[in-house]
Formats: sequence, C-alpha cells, structure tokens
Amino acid sequence: MAYIEVKNENKIYQMGETQIFANRDINFEIEKGKITVILGPSGAGKSTVLNMLGGMDSPSSGQILIDGVDVAKFNDRQLTLYRRNDVGFIFQFYNLIPNLTTLENVELATSLVKDSLDPKEVLDQVGLSERMSNFPSQLSGGEQQRLAIARALAKNPKLLLCDEPTGALDYTTGKQVLQLLSEASRKFNKTAIIITHNSEIAKMADRVIHINDSKVHEVIDNSQPIKAV
Ligand code: ADP
Ligand code: ADP
Repeated sequence: MAYIEVKNENKIYQMGETQIFANRDINFEIEKGKITVILGPSGAGKSTVLNMLGGMDSPSSGQILIDGVDVAKFNDRQLTLYRRNDVGFIFQFYNLIPNLTTLENVELATSLVKDSLDPKEVLDQVGLSERMSNFPSQLSGGEQQRLAIARALAKNPKLLLCDEPTGALDYTTGKQVLQLLSEASRKFNKTAIIITHNSEIAKMADRVIHINDSKVHEVIDNSQPIKAV
C-alpha cells in the first residue's frame, strides 16, 4: 500500500443552479519521502486536490488515504488535529504573521504540536540563524519563503503541502527556494507535494501528476530528478 492513495475522488461545487466539477475521478499514489509535483494550468483543479490532502476541504465522493487512514471521513475535530499535527503548509504569499519575529513565527507553529523540532535548529537549516529577531517585513521575498518553509518543517509534519511556493519570486530566487525545499524535505524525510503551473519546476520532482480539465491527464516518474540549481 502506498503512503498516499487518492481513490476515485470527485469534487463538485454547487454554484446556484450550476455544478462545477473541480475534480473528476482523481486517482494517484505517492510513496513516503518522495517529492511530487502537481502540474497543470490555472483552473485545472490542482488546489482542490491539495485542499483534500490537507484536510481543508472534503471530496464529494472518493477516498483520501494517508498512511491507510481516510481523511475524507474525518469529523471537524479530527480535521483540526490533522491539519495542526500532520500537515505543514507553504503558500505562494508566505502567510507569515507580521508583528512576530522570525523565531516567534516558527515558535507559534510548534507551540501547539507535540513532536515538533527545535525552531532554532530548523531556522539554522534554512540559513536564517542570523535573522531570528527580524520581522517578516525586514526579510526579502526569498527569505520570507524560507521562513515559511522552516515554520512548516518545524512542526515535523507527515506531509508538506506547497501551493505555488515560487509563484511570487523571481526566477533565480525561486530556483534557490525550490532547491532548499527539496533538500530540506529529503533531509527531514518529508513527503512533499508541490503545486505549480511551471513545467520547469516539475523537473526536480520524483513524480509529476499532470492535471488538466479536472482530471489526471498523466503521471510521470522521473528516475533522475534534476537538482533545482
Ligand atoms: P487550480 O488550482 O488548478 O487553479 P482549482 O482547484 O483552484 O484550480 O479550481 C478548479 C475549479 O474549481 C475552477 O473552475 C474553480 O473556479 C472551481 N472552484 C474552486 N474552488 C471553488 C469554490 N470554493 N467554489 C466554487 N468553485 C470553485
Ligand atoms: P542546466 O544547465 O542543466 O539547465 P540549471 O542550473 O540552469 O542547469 O537548471 C537546472 C534545471 O532546473 C533547469 O532545467 C531549470 O529550468 C530547472 N529549474 C529548477 N527550478 C526551477 C525554477 N524555479 N524555475 C525554473 N526552472 C527551474
């Protein structure tokens, strides 16, 4: 059994009279410790898939098996605990807390989690040990995203879910952040799933799931993923 198994997943949004099929019969598997890219154009249904995996939304039908447990069957309480303990989220626009320092942003995330990692050690890993007492506004875009990566990793989650993590960065900075993300997820043995519409980013993934028009179009395994830099 694979670590993640999405089986016959459908998501239909009801907009008044109209039904929007955001995901249609989605099926894929992901092995533990692998980096997976979900690739596809805007509106294809990528975020909907990531929201299912992160327990932020539930499917209209189908199974979302994480380590054999169907997250789609969780109640609200179970979903809250799952999002808090088992998932680290990384967003396009970082979602840092502006009036907390670098260190405090990480500590806030780890304070609710039992088996979290040492915030200072993780900040050191992402190269921000000199920036612990700075506020997000004092960091560059790349540094803010590195902080967001540290915050997600420090929770020591099962999954790292990244929605367009380089979308707000220039090409070179994006590449560096991506390299850090892939190195860190391999080092900490995290299963990382990255959404992007950039086919270049897909080259550094172990597996690429192409989503088009709300369906899985093809799944490609990279036997030799390219390092981001
Ligand atoms: P992507 O991440 O690939 O850009 P999304 O998963 O965000 O695509 O969206 C897939 C489709 O579902 C789009 O047509 C989008 O407009 C629709 N959709 C997403 N979220 C909602 C929602 N909460 N209500 C209605 N429609 C939605
Ligand atoms: P090469 O000379 O092999 O192209 P590079 O260092 O230029 O080596 O890039 C390695 C590969 O990684 C390239 O194919 C590049 O396009 C890709 N890549 C990785 N991350 C990104 C990114 N964020 N944006 C664009 N391309 C990326």
